[in-house]
Amino acid sequence: MSAEDTLLYLDGVSVSFDGFRALNNLSLTMMPGEMRAIIGPNGAGKTTMMDVITGKTRPDHGTILFEGETDLTKLREAGIANLGIGRKFQRPTVFEPHTVWDNLELALKAPRRPLNTLTYAIGRDDRARIEEILDITRLSPKRERLAGSLSHGEKQWLEIGMLLAQDPKLLLVDEPVAGMTDAETEQTARLLCDIAGKHSVIVVEHDMSFVRALGVKVTVLAEGSVLAEGSLDSVSANQQVIDVYLGR
Ligand code: ADP
Repeated sequence: MSAEDTLLYLDGVSVSFDGFRALNNLSLTMMPGEMRAIIGPNGAGKTTMMDVITGKTRPDHGTILFEGETDLTKLREAGIANLGIGRKFQRPTVFEPHTVWDNLELALKAPRRPLNTLTYAIGRDDRARIEEILDITRLSPKRERLAGSLSHGEKQWLEIGMLLAQDPKLLLVDEPVAGMTDAETEQTARLLCDIAGKHSVIVVEHDMSFVRALGVKVTVLAEGSVLAEGSLDSVSANQQVIDVYLGR
């Protein structure tokens, strides 16, 4: 496999904060359409990894290529988002005083368009896409509800829906099931599995039953680099992974 075939290619990425290495020679590749779970102890560098991919933090060293050629280390956050890299932080950020439908409509119309074009009436294709996203996120019955009145889980799905409205090539999702009920967690796994393939997804998560439900390749980070990679069963049997994370 060469870097050209990859969607995301990190090689030898290092980041230091006041001499402390948050990322230490991190290398990771993702193929188009792939979903990957990232696990590891607190302080392993998971958030910093998302920060360097999305341009929030600039690495001191290393290569980060998107679609095999675009050097993300040369771009700012807005430029990276514009390439089709969406990020969902842990807490839901939806426009609470507006309805589910309006949140999706805003997300659909907003990206990559100058503000003065946002007054265009919504067209039939846009409506169809919003209906599609309402179906995928199972929020169709809630379309007229104010986002602020949704449950925690529903807000998370709405925000994922808003990111989908921007048609991302890669979605970075940080601990999506924190604070969710078991039923909501199951539904979130289904949702992410439904969108993987069309969109690539990186999910950072501590909930191992959720990671198991995703059924995807797992990368274990520790001390800023990759400790192990493979199926959840194979990394769970790795003694180093047990020592630094799973056995704790
Ligand atoms: P994780 O998300 O896996 O818990 P982080 O990427 O948040 O890990 O942090 C990795 C390490 O880098 C931690 O020790 C953290 O304290 C440190 N770190 C992260 N961001 C900063 C920062 N802005 N300034 C100083 N230290 C930081």
